[in-house]
Amino acid sequence: MSDDKKSELKIKAIENGTVIDHITANKSLHILKILELPNDETKNVTIAMNVSSSEIGRKDILKIENRELDSSELNQIALIAPKATINIIRDFKPVKKDKIILPNEIKSIIKCTNSKCITNNINEPITPKFKVITKNPPQVRCHYCEKLIKTEDIEKQFE
Ligand SMILES: [Zn+2]
Repeated sequence: MSDDKKSELKIKAIENGTVIDHITANKSLHILKILELPNDETKNVTIAMNVSSSEIGRKDILKIENRELDSSELNQIALIAPKATINIIRDFKPVKKDKIILPNEIKSIIKCTNSKCITNNINEPITPKFKVITKNPPQVRCHYCEKLIKTEDIEKQFE
């Protein structure tokens, strides 16, 4: 049996919902923060951290019950876990499998690290907007002040 299959068995199967697999090890809590989960409607979230994976060494897995996350929500995850994959589960069976793709432009999830940037103006805050420069590892550039935000600066914002 492959390592992936074994680790899959360690956490219980869900009847309906979303499984996010191949998350960079120890990043699952960052992802829950991005997705703002768990919340009032989505209570049952199972996390498996730092399990072995034949594909990426060590990984995290997230199982979110009774909620099918849409692709725009999921693609934001690529900022933290560029190799993550998604399974939508219905009646215990995966009905849709997808890779997460970081969009060319992202909004609001992270802040510009330039304190003088217009997006950090306390009086007239503007929604941050970034151009994605590299996808793996992810680096983005602020649309307004052109400040480059490196992978480690992105990750710091979710700690
Ligand atoms: Zn900026």
